[in-house]
Amino acid sequence: MDCIANKTLLNATCGPDDDAIAVINPATDTVIGYIPSLQTSDIHDVIEKSKVAQKLWAARPAAERAKLLTRWYELVIENSDDLARIMTLEQGKPLTEAKGEIIYGASFIQWFSEEAKRTYGDTIPAPTDNKRLMTIKQPVGVAAAITPWNFPTAMITRKAAPALAAGCSFITKPANQTPLSAYAITELAYQAGIPQDLLVMVNNHSSVAVGDIFCSHPDIRKLSFTGSTQVGSQLIKQCADSVKRTSMELGGNAPFIVFDDADIDEAVKGAIASKFRNAGQTCVCANRFYVQDSVYDQFVDKFVDAVAALKVGNGIEPGVQIGPLVDSKAKENVLGYITQAKEQGATVAYGGEDLGGLFVQPTILTDITQDMDIVQTEIFGPVAPIIRFSEDDELITKANDTIYGLASYFYTRTLNRAFHIAEQLEFGMVGINEGIISNEVAPFGGVKQSGFGREGAKQGIDEYMSIKYLCFGGL
Ligand code: NAP
Repeated sequence: MDCIANKTLLNATCGPDDDAIAVINPATDTVIGYIPSLQTSDIHDVIEKSKVAQKLWAARPAAERAKLLTRWYELVIENSDDLARIMTLEQGKPLTEAKGEIIYGASFIQWFSEEAKRTYGDTIPAPTDNKRLMTIKQPVGVAAAITPWNFPTAMITRKAAPALAAGCSFITKPANQTPLSAYAITELAYQAGIPQDLLVMVNNHSSVAVGDIFCSHPDIRKLSFTGSTQVGSQLIKQCADSVKRTSMELGGNAPFIVFDDADIDEAVKGAIASKFRNAGQTCVCANRFYVQDSVYDQFVDKFVDAVAALKVGNGIEPGVQIGPLVDSKAKENVLGYITQAKEQGATVAYGGEDLGGLFVQPTILTDITQDMDIVQTEIFGPVAPIIRFSEDDELITKANDTIYGLASYFYTRTLNRAFHIAEQLEFGMVGINEGIISNEVAPFGGVKQSGFGREGAKQGIDEYMSIKYLCFGGL
């Protein structure tokens, strides 16, 4: 490991005696570095400086902001191997997946460097002939974010890039479990020329303490959160007192539906990608499978064969496809869901074993029914419960029977069915004959208790801008 990886690990390290936060490799249970736990007074200082930096940044032409963001993008790409290595060491995902996340994360910086130049307002035909009306878009000011451990880079760039492009400053609290990736991309932003007070990472042993400051501070005008629905809902309440704008990217419970006219091999490929990426620890992971009667056995047989071929291990080793779960609590939860499903009547068609350390064998459960707890739970692990269905109408009711509404997937070769089903699914995103749907040009986000706001796409920058209406009278 050279350049950025070394630099980050060394810079971030402040020693175990300094009230530091230890960062642990989940594959080996060893400490790989430390980051400082900032005092709350330090975080208040960061916000003060960020406010000053934001005004100067917003005053610069969009083209200048775009140029610095482009340079940041280039440096992330140039350092992608090192960044991927840092991510695998602190998060556990296989190295190829980590590299994929770095490229995906960088794509938001590139996209929003371009969008910075396109924050158009409107001219509006006036109702009287002595007025002229127009709108302009302006940055909201200081923006803050709280991000999770499952995508340590992309969940930050998906917010930071549109915020900076819009002319905001941006303060993030990355997850304490995976902060090194965050510090590494921030270091690259500084190397690109982005001012230090404009983009800052802050951590404290108590995430609640940081959340309290972000939600209550009058100078923070926007909070963007990615994480669980439970914490998101709490943060919305906390932001109410200062009437802060919020965006919430929360939990999911994605149905993955295989109709009788589906290409079964493609459906199995999509199921593997959607379910087992990041060991099942993504908000858009297929969480429950619905397979139609006549193709049920064929799908299950092929799915079992494909899952049996997945290589589990330390993500830093070549060829590994499934890494460890993030911590012992996550493992305990996942094994608990398997045990509970078995007690409620499920059959283990493949897997189900505790592989030691933080590793769980990829698992397929059959004989699942809609009333089982696992169907309503965000599993966040490598477990695929499969439900049999016969009619489309019954299927839609079951697929929508969840508090969540983030991603959904289905496989069919019938055009009528594709439109009909896509329109009826109560989810923010629908993959049709596709198991991987996220990219920088499309709007990512949910409905119901999966949250609100959109990231990426032409909509993403609007989350960090306010519309100002100008009325020219006396003309
Ligand atoms: P989490 O427990 O909600 O934590 C997310 C972040 O919030 C972490 O930085 C955490 O800090 C912080 N946090 C926890 N409690 C807090 C509080 N009371 N006040 C302020 N901050 C607090 O979620 P997670 O387990 O890390 O992530 C998994 C969840 O994220 C899943 O539900 C998943 O679906 C969701 N997710 C959603 C999306 C999306 O785009 N919709 C994307 C990825 C993940 P520490 O961990 O450092 O304590």
